[in-house]
Amino acid sequence: MGKINAIRGMNDILPDQSPTWQYLERTTARILHGYGYHEIRMPVVEQTDLFKRSIGEVTDIVEKEMYTFEDRNGDSLTLRPEGTAGCVRAAEQHGLLYNQVRKLWYTGPMFRHERPQKGRYRQFHQIGVECFGLSGPDIDAEVLLMTARLWKALGLTPHVRLEINSIGTPEARRAYREALVAYLSDYRDELDDDSQRRLETNPLRILDSKAQHTQALLKDAPVLADYLDDESRDHFDGLCRRLDAAGLEYAVNPGLVRGLDYYGKTVFEWVTDSLGAQGTVCAGGRYDGLVSQLGGKPTPAVGFAMGMERLVLMLESLDLIPDSVNDRADLYVLGMGEAGEAEAARLSEHLRDAMPDRMILTHCGGGGFKSRMKKADRSGAAVALILGEDELSGDTVTLKPLRSGEEQRTVSRSELTETLAGLLSPVSESTA
Ligand code: ATP
Ligand code: MG
Repeated sequence: MGKINAIRGMNDILPDQSPTWQYLERTTARILHGYGYHEIRMPVVEQTDLFKRSIGEVTDIVEKEMYTFEDRNGDSLTLRPEGTAGCVRAAEQHGLLYNQVRKLWYTGPMFRHERPQKGRYRQFHQIGVECFGLSGPDIDAEVLLMTARLWKALGLTPHVRLEINSIGTPEARRAYREALVAYLSDYRDELDDDSQRRLETNPLRILDSKAQHTQALLKDAPVLADYLDDESRDHFDGLCRRLDAAGLEYAVNPGLVRGLDYYGKTVFEWVTDSLGAQGTVCAGGRYDGLVSQLGGKPTPAVGFAMGMERLVLMLESLDLIPDSVNDRADLYVLGMGEAGEAEAARLSEHLRDAMPDRMILTHCGGGGFKSRMKKADRSGAAVALILGEDELSGDTVTLKPLRSGEEQRTVSRSELTETLAGLLSPVSESTA
């Protein structure tokens, strides 16, 4: 019988990649915590209607990317393609949004049936952030400053840039849509196939088209900014002023529209040139209409999601993973003979009490001294602790530094923890 492989576009994250993922998750969680965000965990499966009603029937996601199936009761369920809809559903269901500001974040897998390629998968992971209950540009600006702080912590600042836009109210978009359709209809035959289709279904998405000729045609098209309502324009100006005051650089991209129907007013993307075609690492905006659209009280909201695979790819390819981010052992404890092995196990437990953040490997599996030392070396441990006959009778331990080239030495038990502290580098990022 043949072997069974993973589903195309759904990746295993292997042990040598996990430290980078943990580093990214830990760094993000720390920064979100610093701004008062709290984690929420939602199910991976929701009722299909939740996504249809929020993301929108004529979006790419709902039209062709969702993993939708009937469960045994005949209910239509969908693997979540994004987190905002489920987060709003959960917050509403549990009364979290009643007359208060809520700052929430979540992380986990999302599912979209797309064509797999570098930076684009069918199961991918996002960290999503949502702030409910605040309607002004002050919180939009804070959310962007928070993302900027994250890039700084990760060393990504020189490699990403911020694009922002306002897409106004639904009425403003409706008026603009008519003008855009009127203009593009004269060039219908020249548009790429997707855009021709979108002319009927979701014309604003044409602005997003990657087709060169379509983009050339758009040069003289009406612009959304000219159709903005006063409130959206003031909101956007307020946001720009705040970003200027904070010294956060951005570019206004009048063609930025986002692919989900629930956005209004502010939209933004952090993009990079270092990933090829899949250049958006973080995207979001304001969605003041969504909570009421899903049956709740009108509640202003702003949020974003970042694509973790893309960020991990960036950290790897730009060589930005700190040395301390690793899963290497600190100590490798080996005793010779049965008495030595028993003592090694006892000493290891004692050391785990004394230094709980260290990775301490105790040799198991027998073998001669040479092969044990080889295993100690291969474990990546900084120091091998050797308990042979002499050490047992003298109540000492021999310490052999494995990375630094320092001389091996034999120390008494009472000196042990202090000597080790001097030999080990500070507790690594990945465990701290
Ligand atoms: P794109 O324009 O790249 O298709 P999107 O507009 O569909 O992105 P969102 O739904 O806003 O993306 O998701 C936010 C972020 O999640 C994206 O900016 C990206 O980093 C990541 N992302 C989206 N789809 C995928 C995918 N299929 N594989 C990996 N990451 C993804
Ligand atoms: Mg997409």
